[in-house]
Amino acid sequence: MAGRLEGRVAIITGGASGIGRACAETFAREGADIVIGDLDEVRVDEVLRAVAAMGRKAAFVRTDTSQEADCEALAEYAEREFGRIDALVAAAGISHALYVSGAPVAGDAPETPPTILTKPTEYWEKVLNVNLTGVMMTDRAVARRMIAAGRAGSIVNIASVAAKVPLAGAAEYCVSKAGVHMLTKVLAMEIGHTGVRVNAIGPGFIETPMTANMRADESRSQLLLSRIPSGRFGQAQEIANTALFLASDESSYFTGEILFPSGGLFVS
Ligand code: NAP
Repeated sequence: MAGRLEGRVAIITGGASGIGRACAETFAREGADIVIGDLDEVRVDEVLRAVAAMGRKAAFVRTDTSQEADCEALAEYAEREFGRIDALVAAAGISHALYVSGAPVAGDAPETPPTILTKPTEYWEKVLNVNLTGVMMTDRAVARRMIAAGRAGSIVNIASVAAKVPLAGAAEYCVSKAGVHMLTKVLAMEIGHTGVRVNAIGPGFIETPMTANMRADESRSQLLLSRIPSGRFGQAQEIANTALFLASDESSYFTGEILFPSGGLFVS
């Protein structure tokens, strides 16, 4: 049976780790060739090998999504070397300005997290540059090429439940993700007529390197779990399954939507 993305080409930013990695491997399993844009030149190797083992073409383009020239070079490479771009998952992101994906779990979080009143402006700018401006620049580098090729396409932005839930100590993250939510809607409205769809996913708390510190803190972890109706954290694969739906033709009448796979965080 043909895969749901047979013959398609997908760009995945942040594809070296966590949610992006799960998307890269899931899309490849469904027949797509994969171009990964990420900063991480080490962990990505394993992902490239996994994709190649499924018989799909895989490439890595070192990309800092907060740099417009890098976003353009990533999209340009995919089009030139892979012949087309059908889907984008914009998953590159950071939880705070000093976040290093895959770094060893640090000690206890400070009892009183720094707030808007105390954090340096550079922290705010860093997170907004990567999580919001980076997504906008990646989206448009890809959308321009999809539209010029006259082909339908699907853009999937990774936002967060933090787009809707204020988290004390994480203003810049929440604002960046709320921005991705609105970016998704405005871009969908602006280019809907071209056949390029733009949707977003707002994951709840997912077991990836990004949540390792939080999950290692027993009391924080228990408090969070008590608020998740499903009673567990999510898996990257569950987000990749949602991205697969949005990238495939199964979601052909979806655009400007944000789906929240979050174990029921928003049931009430
Ligand atoms: P992760 O495992 O740390 O993956 C993030 C990836 O993004 C890493 O490979 C990282 O590369 C890459 N990246 C960071 N900054 C980049 C930049 N400027 N340019 C290119 N690549 C960059 O974390 P994750 O949990 O999978 O997060 C993926 C996305 O999901 C993020 O947007 C995050 O905000 C969102 N999200 C996660 C959760 C969760 O619970 N995990 C919940 C809601 C939303 P390096 O290793 O080189 O830094």
